[in-house]
Amino acid sequence: MSKRLTCPECGSDEFNQQRSMIYDESVVAKFNSRGEVDDEFIEDSECSGEDSAQAYECKQCGWELVDEDGEPITEPDEIVARFEQAAKIKDAPTHIREAFQDFLECDTDTVDVDGVEVGLEWFVERLTGCTGILPAGYCSDLDIPQGSTYGDAVEKLAKEASK
Ligand SMILES: [Zn+2]
Repeated sequence: MSKRLTCPECGSDEFNQQRSMIYDESVVAKFNSRGEVDDEFIEDSECSGEDSAQAYECKQCGWELVDEDGEPITEPDEIVARFEQAAKIKDAPTHIREAFQDFLECDTDTVDVDGVEVGLEWFVERLTGCTGILPAGYCSDLDIPQGSTYGDAVEKLAKEASK
């Protein structure tokens, strides 16, 4: 099974959409003596189109799949582009950045984050694309330009690790 796109804010993979649909239905009706429909059942029902659709939004946090003008995005390639863009401007939470700084300072392969030992892979997963600026001291330690981001730093470490 392929990986699902997840909300850049909270990581949920469920998105709500409000929409009204148009149905073509074949109905069997029975009339009472007063001419009212007494009994009716749908023999066949086929959705023939979409009347209107709101933007998809994250079920958990309400993050919306909309373009710059606030228009709903529904085309698959546009959806992928939106998720990618959102991932790029993502800024990792402070505690993850601080844990990464600890990781850079220590000589071991893992550090403790909330009672769990985590390593480079964990940081790559969470800091790739992070636009926060890494403090200058760490930049020189890593031999990357001053003003580099956390994203740049994990990228460099990941590259070195895969050599
Ligand atoms: Zn969300």
